[in-house]
Amino acid sequence: MPDEWKPILKERGLRPFRADQILQSLYRDYITDWDQATTLPKDFRETLKTEFPLTESEVMAEDVAQDGTRKLLIRYADGECVETVLIPARDRFTQCISTQVGCAMGCAFCASGSKGVVRSLKADEIVAEYLAGRRYGEITNIVVMGMGEPFANYDETLRALKLINAGKGPNLGARHITLSTCGVVPGFERLAAEGIQFELSVSLHAANDKLRSELMPVNRKWPLDVLLPACADYTNRTKRIITFEYTVIDGVNSSRADAEELARQVRRVPMAKVNLIPLSPVDHRPDFHTPSDATMLMFLDVLMRAGVQTMLRRSRGKDASAACGQLRLRKAPQK
Ligand code: SAH
Repeated sequence: MPDEWKPILKERGLRPFRADQILQSLYRDYITDWDQATTLPKDFRETLKTEFPLTESEVMAEDVAQDGTRKLLIRYADGECVETVLIPARDRFTQCISTQVGCAMGCAFCASGSKGVVRSLKADEIVAEYLAGRRYGEITNIVVMGMGEPFANYDETLRALKLINAGKGPNLGARHITLSTCGVVPGFERLAAEGIQFELSVSLHAANDKLRSELMPVNRKWPLDVLLPACADYTNRTKRIITFEYTVIDGVNSSRADAEELARQVRRVPMAKVNLIPLSPVDHRPDFHTPSDATMLMFLDVLMRAGVQTMLRRSRGKDASAACGQLRLRKAPQK
């Protein structure tokens, strides 16, 4: 973090303004080697090289979809990889970032969790994804909707996001950064206590415990009667909206009764809205199908009639296998 450099500099008899030069080199000039930080004294650059080696990461592969969505495969020093997705739109350039290699949550419809978790990323590795993304253009928004469960790697994820948000660092506004959780309840309390205006999404996908526990094992630990009050508490404390993500899976959670139940549950949370996402097909569940447009519109209609603010999200980057969770927001017509 910006302030953490000051004591390090002091110890070495260097003036505090050097901290700004370090941050400038890292986050404005994108140095890949301390030798490129030419504003710093040469012997100090040598110290930095040995004591603060730069995070090793490499873009191993990239894939561009027809719609311009770009997926990067990032590899770290130990050979582990994650994916990050860049999503251009008319007025924004959104990056979807990962927080873990794989995921332990095991949601039935999600590819990231189908093979379990390998390890969590460190803050510097998460920031490295962002720095790789920035080479393709100025990132205006970050969504933490890539691989992994951010609240299962809370400390490192928050450290990374605070760094990206830091005024002397990349300075990306907190309201342009969205965390998404499958419902790891202790994270709500902690995030509320941070007093930072990051946006929060909660992946719901089912409106009763029976179905939700089937689709999302996390629900067995924190069922709806625990999760929804925690969400209500979060919005009451922070005065910030929670967005519920609902991936519609044809014939699984897609009936009119499902939509009505969803509306009832969501209304337990003040300041909540819903994003409806059609399922992106995943290889390991050939029995899960994308719903028709008519089903999506029926769902939208039921929710809107119940007074729930709802948006339809369109899938992006399908032909680059970048679609799972990497979806553009589209506003539903307001009545
Ligand atoms: N672990 C976090 C963030 C990663 S997933 C979370 O669960 O929120 C980001 C979003 O993509 C979540 O809402 C997730 O449920 C959704 N998603 C996962 N697989 C999907 C699929 N096959 N089709 C559509 N959305 C999917």
